Amino acid sequence: MSENKNTSCIFCKIARGEIPSYKVYEDNEILAFLDINPASRGHTLVVVKEHVDDVTKCPRHLLDRAFEVAQMIAQAMVSQLGADGVNILTNAGEVAGQSVPHFHIHVIPRYINDGLKLTFPPKQLENKEMEDLKDILNKAL
Ligand code: 5GP
Ligand code: ZN
Repeated sequence: MSENKNTSCIFCKIARGEIPSYKVYEDNEILAFLDINPASRGHTLVVVKEHVDDVTKCPRHLLDRAFEVAQMIAQAMVSQLGADGVNILTNAGEVAGQSVPHFHIHVIPRYINDGLKLTFPPKQLENKEMEDLKDILNKAL
């Protein structure tokens, strides 16, 4: 297992087994466990065992591994839990709704008529601003 020295982080404690969790998947780099406050039946969190603050800081190999596991879990939700769809998302930063500052991916099974709403109210931006935004991001990549 990756060395893990973060003493106060709750997901580091779960990764070290110091706090119990309902483990869905585990290997030497990745752990997945049921969310304690599930948004739907089977809501699972995928974490990298090593402390990483959020998705923007995650080394590529671990990012790939975490999303690989998230995809496997999503497939199992459809085939084994009867999910009709799945939301896979990760919040980065408090302003984005991240309440636990240890990178994690939410895998949320969706069921017809589950009543869960993840809405993105649209913002109207001028064409010029859309052009500028596209240029700024495109140049950085
Ligand atoms: P965030 O808001 O950071 O994107 O998501 C954090 C998630 O972690 C929340 O959905 C919350 O219910 C879950 N959570 C927080 N503390 C614990 C815990 O101690 N155990 C488990 N299993 N989930 C937790
Ligand atoms: Zn941590």
